[in-house]
Amino acid sequence: MKKNSYIIKTHSPEETVEFAHKFSALLKPNDVITLYGDLAAGKTTFTKGVCKYFNADQDATSPTFTLINEYHADLPIFHFDCYRIKHPDEIIMLGFDEYLEKEGVVLIEWPEKIGTHIPEDSIELHLEYIDDKKRRIEIRSPRLMEL
Ligand code: ADP
Ligand code: MG
Repeated sequence: MKKNSYIIKTHSPEETVEFAHKFSALLKPNDVITLYGDLAAGKTTFTKGVCKYFNADQDATSPTFTLINEYHADLPIFHFDCYRIKHPDEIIMLGFDEYLEKEGVVLIEWPEKIGTHIPEDSIELHLEYIDDKKRRIEIRSPRLMEL
């Protein structure tokens, strides 16, 4: 699937949250956002901005043992952290396919762990650590992003 690419740099966690907030205005029910990037790249920080935009009842956290966090918001938000997944099929056993049909926004940290189960039309975010405060964020989306 052809995806357009867009790159921005942020200079603080607040700026990443702010960017995610702006980005969220373009989201629709059933959109899937895959968040690639190492530990501390800013995946959960980005998710916080999405939660803020949709007025979620709680802030996004990095779940240590929970794989799925569900936030009640203007659109339901399903936040997956797949770090601990050992086999891609584990996500299917957790009802992944049903989450994709709940008319919410789905965010997935460590999408590499679910291999071929990543929906083809997902909006990819590649986050990279540059220095203590700087992050490079590349968006690859099948839709044109106007940010
Ligand atoms: P991940 O979920 O990718 O492991 P987190 O979002 O949990 O990463 O953590 C990112 C860490 O980096 C936080 O401690 C945050 O305060 C810090 N940070 C510093 N600068 C930035 C930035 N520009 N964007 C996002 N996080 C940043
Ligand atoms: Mg995280």
